[in-house]
Amino acid sequence: MMNAPRRTLLLGLALVGCATSDTSPGKVDLLIRGGTIYTGSDAPFIGDVAIIGDRIRSVSPHAAVAATRVINAAGMVVAPGFIDPHTHMGDGLASADAGVRLIPNFLMQGVTTAFIGNDGRGDPAVGRVLTSAATRPVGINFAAYVGFGAVREKVVGQTNRAPDPAELARMRALVANAMCQGALGLSTGLFYAPQSFAKTDEVVSLAREAGLRGGTYDTHIRDESSYTIGLAAAVEEALEIGRQAALPVNISHIKALGVDVHGQAPTIIARIEAAQRAGQKVTADQYPWSASGTSLAAALIPLWAQDGGRQALLARFGDPALAPRLRADITENLRKRGGAASLLITQGEHKGRTLAEVATRRAEDHVAAAIAVIRIHDPAIASFNQIERDIAAFMRRPWVMTGSDASTGHPRAFGSFARKYAKYVRADRVLTLRQFIERSSALTADTFRLRDRGRLRPGAFADIVIFDPTLYAARATYEQPALLAAGVRTVLVNGIPAVDNGALTGKAAGRALPQTPRPGSCPQR
Ligand SMILES: [Zn+2]
Repeated sequence: MMNAPRRTLLLGLALVGCATSDTSPGKVDLLIRGGTIYTGSDAPFIGDVAIIGDRIRSVSPHAAVAATRVINAAGMVVAPGFIDPHTHMGDGLASADAGVRLIPNFLMQGVTTAFIGNDGRGDPAVGRVLTSAATRPVGINFAAYVGFGAVREKVVGQTNRAPDPAELARMRALVANAMCQGALGLSTGLFYAPQSFAKTDEVVSLAREAGLRGGTYDTHIRDESSYTIGLAAAVEEALEIGRQAALPVNISHIKALGVDVHGQAPTIIARIEAAQRAGQKVTADQYPWSASGTSLAAALIPLWAQDGGRQALLARFGDPALAPRLRADITENLRKRGGAASLLITQGEHKGRTLAEVATRRAEDHVAAAIAVIRIHDPAIASFNQIERDIAAFMRRPWVMTGSDASTGHPRAFGSFARKYAKYVRADRVLTLRQFIERSSALTADTFRLRDRGRLRPGAFADIVIFDPTLYAARATYEQPALLAAGVRTVLVNGIPAVDNGALTGKAAGRALPQTPRPGSCPQR
């Protein structure tokens, strides 16, 4: 990431060299004619993109070649297919249903590559995850993390203790193995139990195995708010892990969550940029929504009351001796999350109402209403816990990539890229269109060293989105989170139209993208 500006410049010069009329003989398979081309690194220009097979043949103001098919892209934006570095689409990619494996919610936004296994959840059997696409075709390209949580559960289980030396050695071997099978790096979700039980040095020793083989440390940090160590200390811990384990750090879905840390974005940015100036590779991704997605119980019920699962929780709800402590803790969690009006229930009987509205209808206070709802069923909620000032501050930084954190029940799975364009480029002008495209494609490809992806240039894979800049927008909302985005005309994945004339073609042209471990870091096979 620290070299990105220089690399971008060199590439820009190279492209200027080839951005002349392409008069080479021979026929190409596909010609995208007359669109406004954003290459991922250069100023936009009107021109043509020629494609042969799965690769881009030329990107130029005018391609004088015959083509089997010509797509008229006049008035359209032509850009590299978007790359999403943080998703939870692994289940979708492995689904038995071929239609689900297309990942329509991503294709209809122009997302052609996604990472899976984030938040520490990535299956350590990375080789198996990546090869599954060979027998079960998928709609988008994907790369995978090995997850710290999955590794820890396999060896230590769910308990709150440190691994003994033999266990630590086994955990390290699992990470090393996964890296040698093509993992992107090690992901963590230190906020979540049982990952939260791990001390920094345990994480360092596993991250080192990823770093030795060229991987990245991708982390949902220990605290994005004021729950335990606090946002600033959690960012500091991530930087420390990167330094000690000698590998690049990517902070997942960077944010300042909750009233106690609102307005802290500038402080966090200053800290990260100081580390960058000191030579450390640090980046982040971000989803463009002010609400996170969770459940009502996860948002409000203290961990001690959830210990032992749902039946134990219901028993504690009925125990008058625990009532004062429970009420005090829920009240405090409500305060941190901005009050009952900031929690929108998106599932079940109360769908579409805030907790405050439910309480009014039930003529109860907020705590009693929350308990009453959870007693019947713990619903998914959108928790509005970020302020726009922080979102925009993070978004403006040149090291912050577009991500979705896609998971079901939240519109971010269906609309993150489209919303970022419609809201933060077109309406609010936080970013230019060129910045939005670069930070959704080339920056991500550079950061994670994805070969021949993320840019429109000769020789690169033909992952391309063509969208109408007047129509491209998310339709998904918190109330209706599963609506496909609007405005995407055509999407090519490895040269094959996955979306054509605004509709899915049903073609599953995605590929697994195993990463090449650092030479000499893995046993010869
Ligand atoms: Zn996360």
